[in-house]
Amino acid sequence: MSDDAQRWKDKYLGSLEQQERLERRWESRLDLLRRGLVRSSLAAEGTDKAVDQCMQEMREILRRDDIDAALDGLLPRLEKAVLDSEQRRQQRAEQAAAALAALIEQLQRLQPPREVRKALKSLGKQLQDATSHHYLLPALLSQLSNLQGQALTVLQAPIQEQPGLLQRLFGSRSESGDEAANSTTPALVPESEDSTPAEAAPARESSPAVPAQPAHPQVSAAAPMLDSLPLPPGLVPQQDISDSRFSLPGSEPGYSTVAPHIASSLRHLLDELELPARHLPQGEALRRRLEGNLNWYELVPVLDDLAVLVLAVTDSGQREFAGYLKQLNERLAAFIGTLSEAHEGYTASVESTRNFNQQLRDQVSDLQNSVQEAADLDALKLALEQRLEGLLQSVSNHQRQRDSGEDAVAERLQGLVRRVAEMELEAQQFRQHIEEQRQKSLTDPLTGLPNRAAWSERLDLEIARHQRYGGQLLMAVLDIDHFKRINDGYGHLAGDRVLKIIAGELQKRLRKTDFIARFGGEEFVLLIPGTPLEGGVQLLETLRAAVEACPFHFRGEPVTITLSGGIAEFRNDEATEATFERADQALYRAKGSGRNRVEQA
Ligand code: GH3
Ligand code: MG
Ligand code: MG
Repeated sequence: MSDDAQRWKDKYLGSLEQQERLERRWESRLDLLRRGLVRSSLAAEGTDKAVDQCMQEMREILRRDDIDAALDGLLPRLEKAVLDSEQRRQQRAEQAAAALAALIEQLQRLQPPREVRKALKSLGKQLQDATSHHYLLPALLSQLSNLQGQALTVLQAPIQEQPGLLQRLFGSRSESGDEAANSTTPALVPESEDSTPAEAAPARESSPAVPAQPAHPQVSAAAPMLDSLPLPPGLVPQQDISDSRFSLPGSEPGYSTVAPHIASSLRHLLDELELPARHLPQGEALRRRLEGNLNWYELVPVLDDLAVLVLAVTDSGQREFAGYLKQLNERLAAFIGTLSEAHEGYTASVESTRNFNQQLRDQVSDLQNSVQEAADLDALKLALEQRLEGLLQSVSNHQRQRDSGEDAVAERLQGLVRRVAEMELEAQQFRQHIEEQRQKSLTDPLTGLPNRAAWSERLDLEIARHQRYGGQLLMAVLDIDHFKRINDGYGHLAGDRVLKIIAGELQKRLRKTDFIARFGGEEFVLLIPGTPLEGGVQLLETLRAAVEACPFHFRGEPVTITLSGGIAEFRNDEATEATFERADQALYRAKGSGRNRVEQA
């Protein structure tokens, strides 16, 4: 065979071998695919009849050898069956969600207590998610059945049996757990009956001008005319749009834009912490981690470590205070010791004066004897000199003793005075520190208004005063309308800004004796003493109108924000919780009647 022929033969055999290898690989892949398809088809069965039919056919095809042509015929049918089935499934989910929404609405109409109402509302919002994530439905259904049970039980029970106000304000352990669980459920789309923020404020045709209130004189004085006249939404005067106080931040910044700010705030916080000595190395390490910008992944561990240090400081603050008390105790003991030493010194000096007197008396009587015994003038002179010398010696000895004793006592007393002054200063600083901490713990950091703890304290005080002196006392609840949309539409920074501005607008229109607190979220509560119910309604109306007239603007466009309010008068025979509940029900009615309005209980 020629070289050329041999080369061709080798080439042919090589190709043949490669072809066989490829065929084996192809076969094994095809087998794998077949088995995969069979298993998937089994897994997909049971959701829809038409799909099941196609799946069965597919398995039969896969068992044959000529799968290509048969699959070509089946696949378009399968695709259609799957699409149809998906559509039917979506419809079913929507029907289920609609039925659940109707059920929620029915329960809401029963006006269940506040917590149940809120939980129902939150559930209603989650339903929107459930239409696209069907697997959420069973969990929602079980939550709803739970809430329905609660609504019905509470409605059957007389109002006195409801939990105490404190319990309801702060919730029992299990309640707060539930709430926490609710609040961590995924974010929701706006309610279906909701409209856009611009439509949010229903137009109040022929809203009456709010008359000046004798009960709240500075309301009319402090608020410009505009503030007391409700304006229809969107009709905000153009010149007000430029008021930068009401400008809402343009966009929610990305993490990278706020990272330097977060790092610098945390560094500042760390600088402010007075770390106990044994935590200084941890503080240093944390400071090094905070140098430069903090990346997203480090943020959580850094916050955790910072929390540990903050707790250590709180703990050491308490220990410092305990140390201070111990020191005070020791100083008082030393104080008493010095006093008794001074007393002993005094007793000793009384004793030495008595001795001195005795010595003087002895020496004078010796002198007398010497004078009587002296035979001549020289002897008398000598005796006199000797005795007088002795006398002078005793007097100057005594003088020295007394002076040094007095110096020691004076020194001790001065030391005492200094110490007492120091102790007073320290006690003063501690008192100031404690007062500052107390004020901080009673203030809401975002709005600067009193927080819920301060509210409870003030509520107790006003109730006690009301019970003792009588008179009128009103409680009001205010809630910003569709606040969630403000967050959703303009971002949380804008939401925070709105809260802060509205808090200021509300507070500046109140009398000194009125009390306003941020109850939580976008809700405010008020205590209005010495005002009849009509006066309170007028005040709330003024507040409502003032907020509506705030020229908020976002990227140059006016944004109208409104609030609704409910107000109730305290009754002597009624528990505080019941008054709160009535004010809250009134607020609920205001929301139900279109929002941006005030209702009285
Ligand atoms: P309604 O008119 O019925 O009161 O509707 P709403 O949207 O105001 O009420 P909802 O209770 O559904 O939503 C309140 C929202 O307020 C939800 C929450 O994200 C937001 N929120 C609560 N606290 C704060 C806060 O401190 N800052 C910001 N930006 N938003 C807050
Ligand atoms: Mg609310
Ligand atoms: Mg609200």
